[in-house]
Amino acid sequence: MKCSICGQPAILNLRHHMLRLCAPHFMEWFPEQVARSIKRYRMFGPQDRILVAVSGGKDSLALWDALLRLGYQADGMYINLGIKERTCHSQTSDGLSQPGDYSGKSLERVRAFAAQRPGARYQVVDVAAEYGLNVPDLARRNHRSAKMCSLCGLVKRHIMNRAAYQGGYAAIATGHNLDDEVATLLQNALHWETGYLARQAPVLPSTHPRLVRKVKPLARMYERDSAAYALVQGIDYIYDECPYAEGAKSIFFKKLFNQIENLSTGTKSQFYLQFLKARQQGRIAFPQLEAGEEDDAPRSLLRDCDKCGQPTSSADLCAFCRLWEET
Ligand code: SF4
Ligand code: ZN
Repeated sequence: MKCSICGQPAILNLRHHMLRLCAPHFMEWFPEQVARSIKRYRMFGPQDRILVAVSGGKDSLALWDALLRLGYQADGMYINLGIKERTCHSQTSDGLSQPGDYSGKSLERVRAFAAQRPGARYQVVDVAAEYGLNVPDLARRNHRSAKMCSLCGLVKRHIMNRAAYQGGYAAIATGHNLDDEVATLLQNALHWETGYLARQAPVLPSTHPRLVRKVKPLARMYERDSAAYALVQGIDYIYDECPYAEGAKSIFFKKLFNQIENLSTGTKSQFYLQFLKARQQGRIAFPQLEAGEEDDAPRSLLRDCDKCGQPTSSADLCAFCRLWEET
């Protein structure tokens, strides 16, 4: 198998692009594709400061790497959720993670990544240190362990939104890839979740001054491509899924899409891009988004949370601040 560009031995067959690439050309191709998406969907400009949500996984680190290589002012942000692997309850005493400390191990990957890239800046928010409980303990205390991921999502969105607003960032970038997007799209379509479908796009515009725009520069990249990029680039990422993701429906849908893709190359890409096109052309329409993703209420009903100041439709506290009041 030879590289389609230079004829040297190829390391990757990008069947969906009808392209075979050697390592050096793949290393050029990946950031170029990221840059194209940023431009095509007008995600942000060259002078904008971007906050990258990094988890220590391959996608977010590959994205951060590509943005830095493209010359963007991309700062990382890691939220330490305090998640342990389920077989072990070890705790850190010397700042280093022990076996079983999933969040600690993920943070180590982020630190190592930044240490190898002069000028890469990042911040860490430790949920337990900042608010008094880590996310699994918060879920237990609020009797929401069965809905751990929705509670965790709320915590992460809130912390990212506040940090981006307070830091004056133009956009929050996440590492969602095409496999993530099609799995979510199919799940939402199966239940005709119009609210979620309306939000599914490479760019979620800002709908309130305190809710910074969200962008997904990898939304058109296959998961295997970002994994290959991380591997070839020598990025040490956390390979295991979060223990709470085990058995998640999204994993089932990803496997399903991989089977379909094996039978019919390009299906993932078609499914996603045709959805975006149909919406752009008005062939499918959703109710106008009026507020940010933290609150579905019309903008006119939003007020500032009494405690944190983030927008909410509730009379006093936003959903995040209410979490910490519950018993
Ligand atoms: Fe949080 Fe669930 Fe993601 Fe784990 S899988 S980080 S618990 S949202
Ligand atoms: Zn609040």
